[in-house]
Amino acid sequence: MSNEEDVFKAAEEISSETNLQIMSHSVMALKQYIEDRLKKDNDANPIFEEKLKSLYGENVIKLGNSSYKAYVYLECTEDLIEQGKDNFKNFARIYSKIDKVLSVEDDSISYALHLRITSHGKGTSSYDNKGFISESCGRFAVGHDIGHAVLNLDDLINDAVTNDNQSIIKEKKDCDTARHYEVDFFSYILSDLRDFYLLELDGKFDLSKAFKSYNYKAISKFLGDIVKETVFETLIDKKQNEEQFFNEINDKINDKINERLNGIEEVFKKSKKLYDYSLQYTMSHPIIALNRRINSKFQLDVDDKLEKLRNKLKKHELKRDSITLAGDFKIDIEKIISKYKIHIEMENLNNEMENLENEKPGINIHLISKEEHGEEPTIDCYNRRDENGKKNFYCFEIVIKKFSNKEKNNLCIKICKAIGFIYFGYKLIIKRFNDDNKLGHLIITDMQKSVNDFGLSEEEINNFANKLCNLRNVNFEKKRNDIKKETKLKNRLASYVV
Ligand SMILES: [Zn+2]
Repeated sequence: MSNEEDVFKAAEEISSETNLQIMSHSVMALKQYIEDRLKKDNDANPIFEEKLKSLYGENVIKLGNSSYKAYVYLECTEDLIEQGKDNFKNFARIYSKIDKVLSVEDDSISYALHLRITSHGKGTSSYDNKGFISESCGRFAVGHDIGHAVLNLDDLINDAVTNDNQSIIKEKKDCDTARHYEVDFFSYILSDLRDFYLLELDGKFDLSKAFKSYNYKAISKFLGDIVKETVFETLIDKKQNEEQFFNEINDKINDKINERLNGIEEVFKKSKKLYDYSLQYTMSHPIIALNRRINSKFQLDVDDKLEKLRNKLKKHELKRDSITLAGDFKIDIEKIISKYKIHIEMENLNNEMENLENEKPGINIHLISKEEHGEEPTIDCYNRRDENGKKNFYCFEIVIKKFSNKEKNNLCIKICKAIGFIYFGYKLIIKRFNDDNKLGHLIITDMQKSVNDFGLSEEEINNFANKLCNLRNVNFEKKRNDIKKETKLKNRLASYVV
């Protein structure tokens, strides 16, 4: 890639993918939120630790020498509804997986919890006639699934296995792993907080004021269940007269409603906490877009390689079959040797193809926000290969320092440069990992120096970054203007201000 136009096209390609991403800042923040729960101040989460012991044996955890990681992958799909499957919730899934990686560099062990979330919704976001986020849109679905990852994390850890294809939280009415209605409120508040930010309303968002406006919605979601449950309990309790019976039922129902409402108030607080984390994850949308983009390019390259190997194999096969033996060993000896040589080459090709297919290499790009970090972002590039599936992951973590609102614009352009660096340089970095055949880190602290080291063009990266940043600002303003037209939403949120 050399001319300016091509570089702009690359930025536009990432930017258009960005528009398809939903709640990316919360998805990015989820990684940090989970990592904090897996290990905080050197104390491992007991449920995670128990799970590791059950998977890898009692003595696997060498404290002090092991690190805990979390990876979150979100996929949004919106075409299922069109296929006649009217309730998108029936198809939302969260897969949880645990892996163990032993670094060949320093014998350190890292354990990771992977969450793969598939959300389904119609369109990115829409609102109902009272200005609440619509339950059928993508933003609501994503918020709901993020809510499961926060509220049901212990269950997800408990159910995690060491291979893929394990479905954990399925949206079924009879599924009792999770209280789906609570997660709905997690999603409502997450969406409201985001819109509150976009609308630039003055003052503070008051959770308890918001809670009051959701009361009727909440009660309507669980009242039916409570009534059924209470009537059943009370009937089998004892024989009473009618008045006593109804008084008792009434009291019980009211107690249960209050208990459940308290639960929802707690859910509001947890949603707010994740949202507060997410404020430090600016530019998450293009980072997830970049991840998707280069992952699919990377997969295409792998498919391409496989195709070439397959063709080579076919040619060898034809060559092998074209050698016909006369039956006389003395005459045939050369033919036999060349047949044998082809056989060996074919075996090698088959092995190479099998390895490539088994590895299913993937790319993960995340943004990490740290209290203690220098002014300049760093990129931590590392290679992971899990012990069980032998799946290879190439990870790129853009690490930034916690920032204030004043520093935000300046930081955005720096993150865009890091995105550009990965966009133009990821193949070279991956090649370096593969050539060294090592599992470890390559930490880029001085981006300019690394640009030179890898033979990249600083001008290209800068042009890409400026274009991406401009496109982001244009998109953001458009979104802000669209949301300002939602007057019912605006009025409702304004009434929550203190
Ligand atoms: Zn659910």
